[in-house]
Amino acid sequence: MATLEIRDLHVSVEAENGPREILRGVDLTVKQGETHAIMGPNGSGKSTLAYSIAGHPKYTVTGGTVTLDGEDVLSMSVDERARAGLFLAMQYPVEVAGVSVSNFLRTAATAVRGEAPKLRLWVKEVKEAMERLQMDPSFAERNVNEGFSGGEKKRHEILQLELLKPKIAVLDETDSGLDVDALRIVSEGVNRVRDTGEIGTLLITHYTRILRYIKPDHVHVFAGGKIVESGGPELADKLEAEGYEAYTGVKETA
Ligand code: ADP
Ligand code: MG
Ligand code: MG
Repeated sequence: MATLEIRDLHVSVEAENGPREILRGVDLTVKQGETHAIMGPNGSGKSTLAYSIAGHPKYTVTGGTVTLDGEDVLSMSVDERARAGLFLAMQYPVEVAGVSVSNFLRTAATAVRGEAPKLRLWVKEVKEAMERLQMDPSFAERNVNEGFSGGEKKRHEILQLELLKPKIAVLDETDSGLDVDALRIVSEGVNRVRDTGEIGTLLITHYTRILRYIKPDHVHVFAGGKIVESGGPELADKLEAEGYEAYTGVKETA
């Protein structure tokens, strides 16, 4: 079983007045088959954690390690991370001019699998995955992210997740901007992948709403650039009732 291990991770961003430390010693282990939720107030560094695992150039790791089955993730290129079995939605380009969803997915699958999927089987696979996500077939011929609505972007993200079958997936704010129906469809997609037992999921969210659909095994509270409390699903219920005030001293509802 694949294991993602984050140890004492420190990350800085370049701010106007010099580097600013955002992550201050993150420790977390996610194994294939497990679902972890990271919850925390706005600005606590949750997305910075996701970007750092993805290898975004804006974020500088100043200390600590990230490994996948003992392999140093931080020294891997973005492509190597994907081939190693990490899925990071934001590692994909925001908009790819002139590349259809269908071709984009096949290229991604080729990179991850090490060989091009057989065309006819692939077309069928994509079609079926899109049907499960209640996506219009014409979506496959659209250019990646060009004019996608918030909901379409999220469905495209989950479509990639279903087709690329990673070992560990990091999903940052998958629930943002979704209406109730889209949230349910997207969550069902995540649950389908999860129910295979072959994926470890790190679900990063500010709101508890998505956790009504995707049940985490472990919940971590993130504040001030690190995990300040860990527990089971009951911790999410506590956050829903009490917000993050106990961790930040600032009243804000979860
Ligand atoms: P969250 O996802 O929990 O809301 P973020 O990781 O987006 O938090 O941001 C954490 C802090 O780091 C914020 O204060 C934010 O302004 C700052 N930050 C994040 N990315 C950058 C960046 N590229 N440049 C400057 N500051 C950043
Ligand atoms: Mg430290
Ligand atoms: Mg964020």
